[in-house]
Amino acid sequence: MRGLAKVNRSHGAMEFVDRDRPEPAADEALVEVDYAGLCGSDAGIYEFESAFERMDLPTVIGHEYSGRVVEVGDAVTKFDVGDRVVERPIRGCGDCYQCEIGESNVCQNAVITGVDHDGAYEQFVAVPERALHPVPDSVEQQHAAMVEPTSIAARAVIENSRVSAGDRVLVEGPGPIGLLTAQIADTQGGKVLVSGVGQDAEYRLPLAEELGFETVNVTEDDVAARREAVTDGVGYDVVFDTTGHPSGLPSAVDEVRKGGQIVLIGQTGETTMPYSPLVRSEIDLQCSYASMYDDFDRSLRLIDRGDVDAETFLDDRFSLLAADEAFEAFVAGQTCKPVFDVSELHD
Ligand SMILES: [Zn+2]
Ligand SMILES: [Zn+2]
Repeated sequence: MRGLAKVNRSHGAMEFVDRDRPEPAADEALVEVDYAGLCGSDAGIYEFESAFERMDLPTVIGHEYSGRVVEVGDAVTKFDVGDRVVERPIRGCGDCYQCEIGESNVCQNAVITGVDHDGAYEQFVAVPERALHPVPDSVEQQHAAMVEPTSIAARAVIENSRVSAGDRVLVEGPGPIGLLTAQIADTQGGKVLVSGVGQDAEYRLPLAEELGFETVNVTEDDVAARREAVTDGVGYDVVFDTTGHPSGLPSAVDEVRKGGQIVLIGQTGETTMPYSPLVRSEIDLQCSYASMYDDFDRSLRLIDRGDVDAETFLDDRFSLLAADEAFEAFVAGQTCKPVFDVSELHD
């Protein structure tokens, strides 16, 4: 079978490689991939940012996907051939201190599908059954490919933020995690504004508006005036930084109210800023990383109920056969959540 792999440590460098159909181990299911999304971290691999130095190349990428079980190992008990599934791609070891105390999202030895071993931009993947989730009949297979990024946002909003009804919420960054965060914060009762920069004016901010959010373009608009108007001069109760940009945290500090909360989700390289304003305003600085079983479970229901509008959100214009187009468009902000039809690669 063919898989789309990162082949060397430079920008782009994505090529098809030949792989044997995997043999599932006793505790694994063999999954035939139907749909797979393109994530900010996949774009990070495409551009080859330093976080991915550890990758052993070539590696087939892709970690957010839906598929069907086509074969099961002898010890598999929860899944049968024909079951529709999604994978939790960040796998805890089950053995370290964090895994023992129920914090497998920050496992000391976590491995990530599509980074540390071959991922979903190919026909078949072999997955331990403990990393699989069943997809309810009522959730479309294409929409199920969005469960993984939804789970990241669900953890940030539901587990790690204090957003509740009536809160004024700012989401910095209209990328995939930003717009999922906005939708879930809205479901929690927050009044959500989404901010972006110049290049977001073309696709991502209009998409945010289509999803029902007010937006602000920090390159063109008067952000301070908007904050005054939206929050009566008080500042936002909760600010989510999903930008992954060094300016994200300093601007969150400008926007949040005294006693408010900043939730960091995007990963920035580095930033320097005075922290006295944080202390003196008693800002609650909270981080959120990855997701766990419960976040996946909730995400399937959020998509099922339409709280997350998968149909509007996903972008099916791109093909894995010309994946560079999707990656370049993603990096330029001309798409938000490309979802590939992986059956194009099926033999
Ligand atoms: Zn992802
Ligand atoms: Zn562990």
